[in-house]
Amino acid sequence: MEIQIGVLALQGAFREHLTAIEKCGHKAVQIKFADELNNIQGLIIPGGESTTMVKLIKKYEFRPALDRFFKSQKPIFGTCAGLILLASRVENLDYCLGYINIDVDRNAYGRQIDSFEQFVELNPAYFPENESYKAVFIRAPRIIKAGAGVQVLSSIKGEAIMARQNNILVCSFHPELTDDLRIHRYFINMVKDSINMVKSS
Ligand code: GLN
Repeated sequence: MEIQIGVLALQGAFREHLTAIEKCGHKAVQIKFADELNNIQGLIIPGGESTTMVKLIKKYEFRPALDRFFKSQKPIFGTCAGLILLASRVENLDYCLGYINIDVDRNAYGRQIDSFEQFVELNPAYFPENESYKAVFIRAPRIIKAGAGVQVLSSIKGEAIMARQNNILVCSFHPELTDDLRIHRYFINMVKDSINMVKSS
């Protein structure tokens, strides 16, 4: 199936996501302008600095096109700062897109634990190979509440670190910084499923 995944390329770790999608055998393109969202079937919002991304989303008037993309049920995957932007409620930030019903604490891990790696379990209902996954956390936000309609795909000590609601996927770590492509493959399958849904409806 010929699909094209876009990576929001205003700021942050977008190149690594482009490489990961290409390694999965699919086409990946940088998204720098809102009208480019028309050319893609799935969007990744990368990690970086959410306050800077908010400024650029406003400056380049992305919001209406992003809302249309979301309403047409095309999948969106947010990692780290991308998760912050997709959330419904965020502490210490006066802007969010509100596409997934989670509450987020932006700077939850504080300065002392700037970054760390941890082997985590992925929910076997979604990742049946049952192998642990090395998650890389960089100034990671915390999902302090996963609300109604949200499925938890991975957690640490009972707290979600990867979650999904309908066609929105988020994780608080950086899957693009490891060679393990399982999470990108999972997102690509979400994109394929959404295309098949449109075809069969
Ligand atoms: N805490 C950062 C923010 O608020 C996100 C860090 C990251 O994306 N690696 O944007």
